[in-house]
Amino acid sequence: MKIVHDIHTHNVFSHCCTDRSASTEAFIAKQMELGNRVFGLSNHVWDERVSGATRFYRPQTISLAEEAKTALKQAPEGIRCLFGAETDFFACKGILGMSVEGASHFDYLLVPHSHIGNRNYVMADYPEIIEVREMIKARIREACPFLEEDTLKAMTHYDVLKEAQLMKYVPEMKTNVGEFIARSAVDNFHALMENEEFIKICGTVPTVIAHPFELIGRTPEIRNGYMRFLRDEDLVSCFTEAKKRNAYVEISTGSVQINGLDLSSNELMRVFAIAKQVGCKFTFGSDSHSVGGLKRIEIANDVCDYLGLTREDIAPFLAEDGVID
Ligand SMILES: [Zn+2]
Ligand SMILES: [Zn+2]
Repeated sequence: MKIVHDIHTHNVFSHCCTDRSASTEAFIAKQMELGNRVFGLSNHVWDERVSGATRFYRPQTISLAEEAKTALKQAPEGIRCLFGAETDFFACKGILGMSVEGASHFDYLLVPHSHIGNRNYVMADYPEIIEVREMIKARIREACPFLEEDTLKAMTHYDVLKEAQLMKYVPEMKTNVGEFIARSAVDNFHALMENEEFIKICGTVPTVIAHPFELIGRTPEIRNGYMRFLRDEDLVSCFTEAKKRNAYVEISTGSVQINGLDLSSNELMRVFAIAKQVGCKFTFGSDSHSVGGLKRIEIANDVCDYLGLTREDIAPFLAEDGVID
């Protein structure tokens, strides 16, 4: 089976896209050149109806994303274009960046649980960092007793004093980072499956868990090392819940590539094999932020062969024209 869809793509409507040539028309042309038959544009979106957006998400509204719709509608014959979005789930605050009303604007939705770099929104600070932050706050309070509490709070807020800056004041890191990250990813997954808005959205539009258990680290060794802390039984329980919610599982070829093209030592394969075993259905996406990056979808066929996926394993909204035998 050959995968001929890519439904995880970011272009100029995502603020983190630095490829200025990444217009919707350019993406469609590249998809056709790659032989894809279904293309989904999924820019970062935070529904303007939902409060709690960060500075990054505030301008990434549904209205902005919708500017791409005209080009998608005018696509040439031979390719089915879908209007999607990748929203976010701030597990620390219990907020999903999309309402069910907002979701109805889209053909499908990608929802991640693992944007773990987004500290204090998606993943909590390490206990050592919380301690250092409190210590700094106490020192400032002592030196400047006239400062009002909310000023002090703003000065030491996690958007201001970031983990990277505070790490050098941690005398000894006792937390096992890999274990902490893996545990957070599992907890976030469960929290997402229990989120009422998410459950409603799953019943409204095709909903996909974006790059599940993509645990970001500087090198493939670190990433795979973090993933080894994910226990099979936790993955089984996560994906069983996803299936119950009718949420699909994304195979992100971007993550697969970064974790390593020797699939036998790529921990993501264990994750996907368990998802398949419990009966989840899949979608594929490159998570590309540039025209050139769209080529990464080509790894999808190797992953399919490795996992032994068939048309039955593909999400119904893509199973007909998103694969070829
Ligand atoms: Zn993402
Ligand atoms: Zn993405």
